[in-house]
Amino acid sequence: MAMLREIWRHFFKKPVTVKYPFEKLEPAERYRGRHEFYIDRCVGCGLCAKECPALAIEMVPSDKTVGGKKPVFYLDRCIFCQQCERICPRNAIKLTKFYELAAYDKSELVLDIS
Ligand code: SF4
Ligand code: SF4
Repeated sequence: MAMLREIWRHFFKKPVTVKYPFEKLEPAERYRGRHEFYIDRCVGCGLCAKECPALAIEMVPSDKTVGGKKPVFYLDRCIFCQQCERICPRNAIKLTKFYELAAYDKSELVLDIS
């Protein structure tokens, strides 16, 4: 009986879920999603790669930075801890609220910004 009452109660309530992907919820204020990387600020120091606990950052050669290197992010390994953003002395990394990272292949999750 209690169960029937509960079903009846919820029958007229608005659903708590949304029809994703047609309808999307705004992530929480402090949500940590895909990185934004500003290569013009990067000095290639490698601190982000050293700090990353998931080994999700690789420093690769680049002629766009003073230090001759830039980070490449492997989002399939990333745990979105935000350490790379916090440690970067040049504010070159910013985690955004972007969360739609489903991919058919890992290569689609390599963030290599030139
Ligand atoms: S958010 Fe964390 S796990 Fe992801 S790349 Fe940055 S330091 Fe590594
Ligand atoms: S910590 Fe910042 S400045 Fe240093 S390599 Fe990483 S992104 Fe570039």
